[in-house]
Amino acid sequence: MTGLYIHIPFCKSKCKYCDFVSFPEYEREDIYFVALISEIRRYAPLMKDRRFGTVFIGGGTPTSLKSGRIKALMDEVRKCFDIDENAEITCEANPESATEEKLMELIEAGINRLSIGMQSASDSILKTIGRIHTRADFIKSVENARTVGFKNINADIMHGLPTQTQKDYVSALELAAELDLPHISSYSLILEEGTPLWESVSNGAMELPDADETADMEDAGFIFLNEKGYTRYEISNFSKPGFECRHNINYWDNGEYLGVGLNSHSALSLKGDWTRFRNTDNLSEYISELGEGKLPVRDTRRIEPDEEMFETIMLGLRKCSGISRAEFQKRFGADMAVLYAPAIAELELDGMIEVTEDSIYLNNRGLDFQNEALLKFMEQ
Ligand code: SF4
Repeated sequence: MTGLYIHIPFCKSKCKYCDFVSFPEYEREDIYFVALISEIRRYAPLMKDRRFGTVFIGGGTPTSLKSGRIKALMDEVRKCFDIDENAEITCEANPESATEEKLMELIEAGINRLSIGMQSASDSILKTIGRIHTRADFIKSVENARTVGFKNINADIMHGLPTQTQKDYVSALELAAELDLPHISSYSLILEEGTPLWESVSNGAMELPDADETADMEDAGFIFLNEKGYTRYEISNFSKPGFECRHNINYWDNGEYLGVGLNSHSALSLKGDWTRFRNTDNLSEYISELGEGKLPVRDTRRIEPDEEMFETIMLGLRKCSGISRAEFQKRFGADMAVLYAPAIAELELDGMIEVTEDSIYLNNRGLDFQNEALLKFMEQ
């Protein structure tokens, strides 16, 4: 199965830590969608033999678009691509724009999974990081989602934020658990150069929790989530049974996906060659090239088999279930345990990896030191 990612590059205002390709240029929303639809149509013949098992509409803030936009987009997607009848179809939402009316539109568009950006349950932290919603807005957005019929709901939550304590972080997880959300993505803040938060931290106006404090937050969070019946299935993702995100699992399985929209990335097997490419991140170029009937593709690269194999390991070892030996054998014609025996032996000695008849996976210690573990594979 192939995944489809659709990028929506509009947000009402820019969060202080964000370096995603998103901006508040809603005056270009109409023209962006003309370009996006024409891109989707251009891919229709190329994708005619593929069935899409997942769709992910991300951003940006898809719930901030004009009324009817997502429905029209999904109608076009269904016209152009073969979307599996049981496909997982996710849309990202931000609490301030996830009104009952907007979420009902998503249901009518066939969206069956909602991913809401909570980030923190503390109003003062939300304000500090430039989020434009409150804790109460988040609670209301979940109520709205349930009212219109969403069952599969995720909350994105961050740790390592300015002024955040362990108690603050766990209280965000508590709120998600109290609301009985079946999926929680818990990410550590990455301080991206050039963002307003990076500037504040660089000039000393703001301080972040140090590495030990952040690690303690993570530990406390994992213990809490475990007690509440959430299973960690990937480094940063936790779910109740059956609610793992299939779209992201496909990424970690190094599976095929097509990205459409500004700055989207794709990985496809083209005539047997594993190929990666991305779209331009320049909105004017994206619109004008599609207007001229061209795909706004950049950096097309054929991935050599060795690199594809390393990618598969690097991504697969993010999952707690690790890499299926049978799948690896099918894809690369070799047993991963034999091929990487020296690296695996070293990691076994360090107590980081487990090898069974079916799979190879990093245990909790291995996941905590994932970069070191991957280095062993790279060095071999
Ligand atoms: S809502 Fe998301 S994409 Fe938009 S500015 Fe904030 S973090 Fe970035």
